Amino acid sequence: MAVDYIYPDYEIIRDYDRCITCRVCERQCANEAHEYLSDSKKMIADNAKCVNCHRCVSLCPTRALKIVKTDHTFKENANWTGKSIKEIYKQAGSGGVLLSSMGNPENYPVYFDKMLLNASQVTNPSIDPLREPMETRVFLGAKPDRIERDEKGRLKKNLPPHIMLSMPIMFSAMSYGSISYNAHESLARAAAHLGILYNTGEGGLHEDLYKYGKHTIVQVASGRFGVHTTYLNSGAAIEIKMGQGAKPGIGGHLPGAKIVGDISKTRMIPEGSDAISPAPHHDIYSIEDLRQLVYSLKEATGYTKPVIVKIAAVHNVSAIASGIARSGADIIAIDGFRGGTGAAPTRIRDHVGLPIELALASVDKRLRDEGVRNNVSLVVGGSIRSSADVVKAVALGADCVYA
Ligand code: SF4
Ligand code: SF4
Repeated sequence: MAVDYIYPDYEIIRDYDRCITCRVCERQCANEAHEYLSDSKKMIADNAKCVNCHRCVSLCPTRALKIVKTDHTFKENANWTGKSIKEIYKQAGSGGVLLSSMGNPENYPVYFDKMLLNASQVTNPSIDPLREPMETRVFLGAKPDRIERDEKGRLKKNLPPHIMLSMPIMFSAMSYGSISYNAHESLARAAAHLGILYNTGEGGLHEDLYKYGKHTIVQVASGRFGVHTTYLNSGAAIEIKMGQGAKPGIGGHLPGAKIVGDISKTRMIPEGSDAISPAPHHDIYSIEDLRQLVYSLKEATGYTKPVIVKIAAVHNVSAIASGIARSGADIIAIDGFRGGTGAAPTRIRDHVGLPIELALASVDKRLRDEGVRNNVSLVVGGSIRSSADVVKAVALGADCVYA
């Protein structure tokens, strides 16, 4: 057996009685798993290329396809599971660090699933959403500790800049280049339609999408790709990405093959060069350094945009958040270990970080104990799966979620 031979995880099952050889599956599979044999007028498939995306299954007009998990087994051993053995094969075959996308797939507890919500009754009556207006609008940014009035009794409205959302949900960051122009535009249009915000991620913002600025968070990450004054001023808020839940302490890497055309122009890096985001920001080694960047961004935008600082949920997240709440930032975004990614070392994705539920509770409590909770709003992300998770996150102290 070749050292990198790995038995496929999935098998493509085709019902030949149903298959009309329309070749839709062949055209639609990005991994070229299907092939038409013109001699025998028959479709065949290479299981090794299938990643179980289900595209061919959904598009097959005759429901002739299904993908099944292979029943191939390795010798049973609690320490050396089939998964571990396959990973060793892969690493030996490639010689590189194993990379994975999406979020942590391991069977760790999801604390949201262990929570039940309390409900309002007599003394704090509930709202009947079918008959009464229900307010879901949210304002994110620093809040005053108390309401102040001038000598004529009018409310003083000298608030720092805020973001207004129709509901406590925003789209999480995904960069242009890691996703396509069409996907970015779809997020922008959906955010505008819903009255919420999407996030550029760290790849800059295509000029065509500046028109959605009121619904855009522009991100500044360690690679500073696509960051310039017009970009900073085009969004409703600026996010400094210090960390990411799927890979705390790790930077990013978009292969040069993806840096073409408008992606290269938007990121302001030459075509074909790898876009490497360093693990740290090379000008930030303390909260004081972070404060300088927060205020540089505020200066660049005339103090009109709230600044978000995004961090990964790790063991000392509440101490870090305590510093950020004093740095001049308006919003803290915390990303839990189940957060998604385009690419992360598999070991880091699956074994580093904290559940967002625990990180949020600890940060909210620490900021309240220290009397700085009103300095910032809290946004949490990391696999918010349903409206129930949104409500539970808010119940735990979040002002909004990245979903
Ligand atoms: S899409 Fe379905 S019907 Fe068409 S070739 Fe593939 S399996 Fe056959
Ligand atoms: S499930 Fe996805 S990867 Fe697998 S054969 Fe179908 S289209 Fe290709």
